[in-house]
Amino acid sequence: PYGGGYGMVMMCQPAVDCIRAAKARCGGRVRTVYMSPQGALFDQAKARELLEYDSLILLCGHYEGVDERVMSLLDGEVSIGDFILTGGELPAMVLADCVARFVPGVLGSTESAGEESFSRGLLEYPQYTRPAVYEGMETPEVLLSGHAANIEKWRRRQALEKTRQNRPELLGTYGKYYENKGK
Ligand code: SAM
Repeated sequence: PYGGGYGMVMMCQPAVDCIRAAKARCGGRVRTVYMSPQGALFDQAKARELLEYDSLILLCGHYEGVDERVMSLLDGEVSIGDFILTGGELPAMVLADCVARFVPGVLGSTESAGEESFSRGLLEYPQYTRPAVYEGMETPEVLLSGHAANIEKWRRRQALEKTRQNRPELLGTYGKYYENKGK
């Protein structure tokens, strides 16, 4: 790095050549993103936003990162969390996997992505499958009842409880709405 310091910085030319070549091969609306711990935090909302583009180009850094001048070719920086990984490849795979789940046909059911944690501002409710009793642990009775309204109510309450326990900061407006409605 100019100015001294540890490690190595990826130089402009190879990255710029690569991005330009990738852009030339992409059709439609293209979004070019640098995977970086200094970027905006990735979440479900960001994934939905990226779904609007026809092509995503994800630049993966290594070592100390990439020469800052490469940023002039990019549309933004995205971080997958407040921790440091060795390279941007795993973050890029995380982003690609998450965005792909919103692409029609990727999931078995078109409703699956809309039911999951974060999609309604809360974590998902607990899930159970056969057998009804496993090593003495029972499936909640309501889930076996077939009573759709009661199941929905139970799930809403469980989602709220789980969010309160594990991620209380998510309990914003929507959580409060659920709290009033479901209890
Ligand atoms: N020196 C950089 C800093 O302090 O911000 C960290 C460089 S990191 C060792 C090497 C590369 O891994 C980064 O250029 C980036 O592409 C990727 N990377 C590491 N952590 C990441 C994260 N949390 N989110 C996205 N990309 C990350």
